[in-house]
Amino acid sequence: MNLQIQNMKKDLLIGFHISIQGSIDLSVERAARLGCTTFQIFTTNPRGWKPRVLKDLEVERFTEKKIKKGFHVVFSHMPYLPNLASPKTEVYNKSVETLLNEVSRCIKLRIPFLVTHLGSHLGDGYRRGVKRIIEALNQACDISEGKVKILLENTAGAPNSIGSKFEHIKEIIDSVENSNNLGFCFDTCHGWAAGYNIKTPNGVNDTVKKLDEIIGVKKVYLIHLNDSVRGLGSHIDRHEHIGLGSIGVEGFKNILKSCLGRLPLIMETPVDARRSDLENMNTVKKIISQL
Ligand SMILES: [Zn+2]
Ligand SMILES: [Zn+2]
Repeated sequence: MNLQIQNMKKDLLIGFHISIQGSIDLSVERAARLGCTTFQIFTTNPRGWKPRVLKDLEVERFTEKKIKKGFHVVFSHMPYLPNLASPKTEVYNKSVETLLNEVSRCIKLRIPFLVTHLGSHLGDGYRRGVKRIIEALNQACDISEGKVKILLENTAGAPNSIGSKFEHIKEIIDSVENSNNLGFCFDTCHGWAAGYNIKTPNGVNDTVKKLDEIIGVKKVYLIHLNDSVRGLGSHIDRHEHIGLGSIGVEGFKNILKSCLGRLPLIMETPVDARRSDLENMNTVKKIISQL
């Protein structure tokens, strides 16, 4: 495959989840080197509870480099441990604290979007789980000062998880007080695993129609563009390189042809020897250039 970064339409926002290893500002160079026009980061260790300290110099450098390299839109993703639907008081409280902390960190870093999963009620019941999520989001929207939009991400639909159906997301958005501060992030791997057929032209049409009727396409600020190891409706969240999974090149053609293809696209593809990030980037660009 040709490893040259292919020229694209200037307005296409496309990128990866990028490592902040060493210092947050280093993510900007890493993204630029891959030819990204947008990117996503964790602002802290995604597998820990204790937030990494944000140094003033790091914040300054990140902001400066973003401007210099022309990144207008960057996304942050919540760490993995928080569960905003947890029935366990201690975990729930820590999760809400993390969410509020992440909103503040985004404000400091001038990151306008924070992606979050909705969590799992762990068998305590959907209703009670949703109630806890709404309470958490009410607090987060209160402190976001209109500077950070919290994007609720759809999930693959593992048992007890909340957010695999557009209806879940819609109910939560409608129930939060300052819901102007909320939006939706559609993950293609999760959507496919949850049973939304986004492979065939008809399947993509139906899914986009449903999405528009239930949540509204206007509320979608980000696409997590990932292929899936497992099949349609498998409810298993395993990302695959673009075109190498069960959605496949044909599926991505149809997704990218739809209105979803004009939204910011962030890949969270595997890091392994089979395919580099640059090759995933060029695969997507090639698909788009042939539409
Ligand atoms: Zn995702
Ligand atoms: Zn996933």
